[in-house]
Amino acid sequence: MAILEVKGLRVYFETVRGSVKAVDDISFTANEGEALGIAGESGCGKTTTALALMRLIPKPGRVVSGEVRLNGKDIMKMSEAEMRKVRWKDISIAFQGSLNAFNPVQTIGGQIVEAIRTHEDVSKAKAFDRARQLLQSVGVDPGNADRYPHELSGGMKQRAMISMAMANNPDLLVADEPTTALDVIVQAQVLKLMKRVQSKVAMILISHDLSVISEICDRVAIMYAGKIVEFGTSEDIFSRPAHPYTRGLLSAFPSVSGEKKHLEAIKGNPPDLLTPPSACRFHPRCPYYKEKCSTVDPPMIEVSPKHFALCHFAGEI
Ligand code: SF4
Repeated sequence: MAILEVKGLRVYFETVRGSVKAVDDISFTANEGEALGIAGESGCGKTTTALALMRLIPKPGRVVSGEVRLNGKDIMKMSEAEMRKVRWKDISIAFQGSLNAFNPVQTIGGQIVEAIRTHEDVSKAKAFDRARQLLQSVGVDPGNADRYPHELSGGMKQRAMISMAMANNPDLLVADEPTTALDVIVQAQVLKLMKRVQSKVAMILISHDLSVISEICDRVAIMYAGKIVEFGTSEDIFSRPAHPYTRGLLSAFPSVSGEKKHLEAIKGNPPDLLTPPSACRFHPRCPYYKEKCSTVDPPMIEVSPKHFALCHFAGEI
């Protein structure tokens, strides 16, 4: 069953030079009991998508159009008061860079208590007991509840952030780059934790790291320049990539199965989203470019059951 249905979502940032089309007409679903990965290079719109799902787009950004249905209700049509009841309770986020996401002048436990008491009428003492249990459940010594964010290591802070996001038993957890900036050993611990979390809650995992996505996710959306260019199961994306950009990303990344291979970077740079390339946004970098690619918008083609690619020649390449 779909917990989240996103249809035609567009998020633009208004600048003096014009609209930056950070997310431009994307649609996807996240189902109960599964982890959906959103992958792509920096600046492709992954984090903007996550913030839009929470209705936390900072100004001068705005959601221009689209539906975001959480358990059937369009959160884009909710008042801010209604949204406050949903945010952190039904849909929750573990932010990228937990160092900056915590309030530096409040203890870790105090912040988890606040998250709990915003949605539940429980005493401070009971909420604090829960905070300690939550920290323990993510492998952080509950004694750290009385400490300030700067007193915890990066890995502990990241785990504490995940425990705070889980404090109200959300239906959907969005985890934005949960392993970035952690050393390899701590990354492995956080990944193990994410797998445990994933067995309890629907999750959207945002990462530029394809090995993290392949380790955790059931289905994957690949984003490029504000668009979803490929969508399918992890097996489809990692074994049978259909979009030239996905192929390029996979060739530029060390093999997720650990085999040695020659790494090849994708030529060129991601486009300026103020004036994105015409028709297929990947066309200036695509090795399969044909004239039609820069003049006609590519269709989303179903290359195999439930495996889609936004390319004129998907399935032929
Ligand atoms: Fe490449 Fe053309 Fe497909 Fe775009 S539509 S990805 S340019 S082949």
